[in-house]
Amino acid sequence: MKIITIDSPLQDILKTKTEEIQENELWLAQEIYEKLLLALKPYLPAAGLAAPQIGMSKSVFIFSFDRDPQNLEAVINPKFVPAGNAKIEGWEGCLSVILSDGIWKLAKIPRYEAIQVTYLNLAGEKIEKILEGFAAKVFQHEYDHLQGIVNIDRDDATIQTFDTKENMLQFMSQVKKEDSVHYKKPSV
Ligand SMILES: [Zn+2]
Repeated sequence: MKIITIDSPLQDILKTKTEEIQENELWLAQEIYEKLLLALKPYLPAAGLAAPQIGMSKSVFIFSFDRDPQNLEAVINPKFVPAGNAKIEGWEGCLSVILSDGIWKLAKIPRYEAIQVTYLNLAGEKIEKILEGFAAKVFQHEYDHLQGIVNIDRDDATIQTFDTKENMLQFMSQVKKEDSVHYKKPSV
């Protein structure tokens, strides 16, 4: 299962708004969830992955509030509203961007520090949570993918370009350290 990158012939799907999962399509959400886990496997521990990144234009993503693979959960038809006005600027890598040969880019983006989210789980139950810190950042990143937005294309993104993969990974390891300060278990 290959992750679609911005230099792939299939890249249009990354710029396309996804369709919601219908009530009778939970089987499809389950299938997408399993494919997302499989596609993310070589990159674990990782924060998340969205359906368009594996070529499926549906409103499904997986994310982990602390990059621990055991905490990866399926999110279906997500919505969110800010919980407060505070935003935090942080660096974000994206498997659809950083794997492109010769293009090593990270984006610094202001994201809401806390958000109130609603979505369906794989059983079709409605989930409501408050996400803060890293969890909120990842959720907003993956939500963007469902809107057809890649992080480096946002108007409010500051882009950093790296000439080698090693330099990018070195920078990213520092980012992950900073992220870990903001790991916070979602509250209901
Ligand atoms: Zn991404």
